[in-house]
Amino acid sequence: MQKGTINVQSENIFPIIKKFLYSDTEIFLRELVSNAVDASQKLMTLSIAGEFKKELKDLKVEVILDAKKKTLTIRDHGIGMTQDEVNKYINEVAFSGAEEFLEQYKDKDPKSIIGHFGLGFYSSFMVSSKVQIKTLSHKKGSKAVQWESKGDPTFELKEIKKEHRGTDIILHIDKDSKEFLEENRISGILNKYCKFLPIDIEFGTKSESIDDPKGKKDKDGNIEKTSIEIPNIINNTQPAWIKKPVDLKTEDYKSFYNELYPFTEEPLFHIHLNVDYPFNLTGILYFPKLKNQIELQKNKIQLYSNQVFITDSVENIVPEFLTLLHGVIDSPDIPLNVSRSYLQSDSNVRKISNHITKKVADKLSGMFKKDRKDFENKWDDINVFIQYGILTDEKFHEKAKPFSLLKNAKDEYFTLEDYKEKVKAAQTDKNDKLVILYSHDKDEHHSLIASAHNKGYDVVIMDGPLASHYISKVEQDLGVSFARLDADTIDKIISKDENIPSKLSKEQEDSLKPIFEEIVEKEKYTIQVESLSESEKPVLITQSEFMRRMKEQQAAGGGGMNMMGVMPEMYNLVINTNHALISKLIESKGENQKVLAKQALDLALLSHGMLKGKDLSDFVERSFELI
Ligand code: ADP
Ligand code: MG
Repeated sequence: MQKGTINVQSENIFPIIKKFLYSDTEIFLRELVSNAVDASQKLMTLSIAGEFKKELKDLKVEVILDAKKKTLTIRDHGIGMTQDEVNKYINEVAFSGAEEFLEQYKDKDPKSIIGHFGLGFYSSFMVSSKVQIKTLSHKKGSKAVQWESKGDPTFELKEIKKEHRGTDIILHIDKDSKEFLEENRISGILNKYCKFLPIDIEFGTKSESIDDPKGKKDKDGNIEKTSIEIPNIINNTQPAWIKKPVDLKTEDYKSFYNELYPFTEEPLFHIHLNVDYPFNLTGILYFPKLKNQIELQKNKIQLYSNQVFITDSVENIVPEFLTLLHGVIDSPDIPLNVSRSYLQSDSNVRKISNHITKKVADKLSGMFKKDRKDFENKWDDINVFIQYGILTDEKFHEKAKPFSLLKNAKDEYFTLEDYKEKVKAAQTDKNDKLVILYSHDKDEHHSLIASAHNKGYDVVIMDGPLASHYISKVEQDLGVSFARLDADTIDKIISKDENIPSKLSKEQEDSLKPIFEEIVEKEKYTIQVESLSESEKPVLITQSEFMRRMKEQQAAGGGGMNMMGVMPEMYNLVINTNHALISKLIESKGENQKVLAKQALDLALLSHGMLKGKDLSDFVERSFELI
């Protein structure tokens, strides 16, 4: 028997492991299971290379819980270790990075550290009062050895009898970590980290219903069923992303999506990533149906390293807009042992980012070219994603220009350039400025859209959380300006040279202002008396495009307007001197005049959904009286 002290340069690593890594103790199981998988795969490689000539047999990894003995065992039938190897890999190498680790990472996210300083195996001490390794190397004539330590940090190493090749890691679970003796807890962790490992992972048994060999047949010839216990394999060793796209059907992609996100709606389409130069990356990204619910859909991509789950927060690894996608990215080349801010400047990460962005843009472009109708059908679900990409990623912006669409109020779709051509003739104003009219809501702007159509103008629908940022971007790209239908009266938005004479005298016009000033909040409304066409409403409410957009961008964030504080709501109350009702209002006197003005104002507010509370009740009362 050999006794010794684990080679630790700094005082004692164990209290530190416990302290710093405490917040995420569960990863010990990921580390031990992936070591077991590594050991199994190494043996497979040796066997294929002809260096290991015996039978491989079943290479599955077993996780065995013994609640009575308070142990958790991770068993593999892989390469195993000789005594020398235990000395080298467990006693020495394990802590070669300890000092460095202490210096650099004491304040950092513990999740990113483990597994990268040879601490993988030692993470077992986070939950154990004693750890034993029983191992028999695959090498001819090897003797089995047992290593044992309570993490104090001394160890014992001795020869033992062990029949089967491979390694058992036996954790004597600490009394503070009893949760890891619960079956549900363990299967939860296995499911999170080990679901797609490349070697079968067995945890306990499950029952399966089979034909009872002694069972009788019923009248339809069906044999009675009986239930048997079979090994419970918790993982899928052949996840879709490691297969070749040619071997997969659309259904396979969908069912894999279901495996990743049970009980969610089907995705729209997918992209299969497969790169081996200049970095290694595989994965499948799915486009979910976004429905303007950006926050809900964000950050669902799962990051794997050689099929071991690492994290589901991929910010800084992929461009922000891509975090709206779902799916899996698997790359051994993404450095996980560094801080997140460092990731952004890592050249591999940048290359990966660029590659994914390009793939996504190519996919969208391909879909657009191949079947435009189908692309249009998907547009409502993907436009938020595309807008997000255009706004945040210049490379994507360039690529996305040709397939960015505008949808009009008649549900027709146009590319930006085509749309510009379509409306150029009608919607260029007297100053040669091309104005694109838009609405955020077909229902709310129903009458405004109708009057724009009557004038021969077209209206695009711009909705969603990013609309106002996006509009500013398109304005720059196309050299046009966008105006929402309620930004002004339509004749002012697209002003042509026609001057409509007023039916009222200057005096009469001047008398209108005070009437309305008395019934609206002065700080909120600017009253404008204007000669519009007779068919235009008597009283209109408009809101400056600029102010409204600033406010929206402030609300959506990133508008850079925060130093201005919260901007007040400001509106214009436009009175149309040419409407018959206004003539009538001028002629009436006293209380009568006031009721008419109030009624006209309330109707205007009502049509903008701005009449609320007591004002709404008063309006209803007054209307009943009037009829
Ligand atoms: P890493 O896996 O990053 O090398 P670990 O601390 O997890 O670091 O493991 C240290 C070393 O111990 C491994 O590289 C391997 O050589 C050896 N080892 C650990 N677990 C096993 C196992 N189950 N079978 C064979 N060797 C193992
Ligand atoms: Mg390891």
